[in-house]
Amino acid sequence: MSIEIEAVAAPEGSYCAKHPATPGIFVCSRCGDYACHHCTAIANREAYCQGCANQPLELPETWPARLRFLYLSIDGRIDRRTWWLMFYLPTTLLYATVVVLEYFATTRGDHAIEVAENLGLIVVAWPSFAACTKRLHDRNQSAWWLLLTLVPLIGSFWFLINLGFLRGDAAPNDYGPPLAAPGGAGPHHT
Ligand SMILES: [Zn+2]
Ligand SMILES: [Zn+2]
Repeated sequence: MSIEIEAVAAPEGSYCAKHPATPGIFVCSRCGDYACHHCTAIANREAYCQGCANQPLELPETWPARLRFLYLSIDGRIDRRTWWLMFYLPTTLLYATVVVLEYFATTRGDHAIEVAENLGLIVVAWPSFAACTKRLHDRNQSAWWLLLTLVPLIGSFWFLINLGFLRGDAAPNDYGPPLAAPGGAGPHHT
């Protein structure tokens, strides 16, 4: 599979930050250093210098940035813990609430809940897709794998095992470095 690259090219006449005699090819998208062809790692269509490619990625500090990363962008990786806490548990809870509300609404002949439910589905569709894509990336799988969920029974089984239980790559993969443990150093793998 060919990966489209959005990396920024190093200016002409620049040299690698690690190898002063070798011309720079790309600008590292994390630290801004120039990296030569030995040092450049391409992940997530971006270029990283060797040091940054091997460094676990922190979740953004502020909540707005963190929510944007988790639910709007489909780049990068999240670990199992983040997937459970930020996607699977909230959506399961939401779904359970809807089922209960729907039960009471239909016994009263009220159909407003159906409208609300459909609106809710539209609202959570993209954030769910984004969170699950990131978890697939953690296992070096592309978002296309989500099509498997269309297969009855096997699809949902695969979904939960693959995204909820199987460990992500400890090393950087095609989608970048792993997510750092909250507040600690090193990739987080429970
Ligand atoms: Zn760097
Ligand atoms: Zn170099």
